[in-house]
Amino acid sequence: MKKALDAGFGHAELALLLRALAFSAARHRDQRRKDAGASPYINHPIALADVLVNEGQVHEVNVLVAALLHDTLEDTETSPAEIEAAFGAAILEVVLEVTDDKNLEKAERKRLQIAHAAHISREAKLVKLADKICNLRDVAETPPAHWSIERKREYFDWAKQVIDALRGVHPVLEAVFDRACEKRPL
Ligand code: NDP
Ligand code: ZN
Repeated sequence: MKKALDAGFGHAELALLLRALAFSAARHRDQRRKDAGASPYINHPIALADVLVNEGQVHEVNVLVAALLHDTLEDTETSPAEIEAAFGAAILEVVLEVTDDKNLEKAERKRLQIAHAAHISREAKLVKLADKICNLRDVAETPPAHWSIERKREYFDWAKQVIDALRGVHPVLEAVFDRACEKRPL
């Protein structure tokens, strides 16, 4: 508790964080992850926040809120205006920075993630780092059903290219990412 207060995490920040968690849970309520057990989607945004706080000691509320909301624009009916109204322009900006343009082909979106990674804000880099850590763990431990080994390897290799482009933002979380990379299927 003391540490959280030292980091400036008071009642207002806790209230904002829980509002974001409730908002994200409501928006993702009918979605499941792609693992064989079809885990509730909300487990994934919660996992990002958990990694940021408990493995990265990241206590900035804007980063944690953006992590909880990071897939709402891309994967639910949520609009940017709703995020701005509920959480403000600064958090919207970070969520937009980690949102792919769904009008583009999948391969182009993947290419752009690599090309853009160095140029996004520090806050967005932290969210992206946590997202890739969580997704590599998922691919290693609870992968999408029917993914071949080759497809898992391709996912690891692409994620590494994205993270290599933003290195220098948080050495501890980058080391956590590198450990997750060690689970790349042989
Ligand atoms: P997808 O982008 O379709 O799936 C990966 C994404 O799904 C993750 O980034 C994650 O995104 C989300 N996700 C949900 N559940 C899980 C889970 N349990 N484990 C991991 N991720 C999960 O797949 P690809 O990355 O393979 O991208 C598709 C590309 O692959 C296309 O370019 C396509 O052409 C190509 N492709 C390759 C094939 C192959 O065999 N190599 C076969 C078919 C297509 P988030 O965190 O945002 O939710
Ligand atoms: Zn994600």
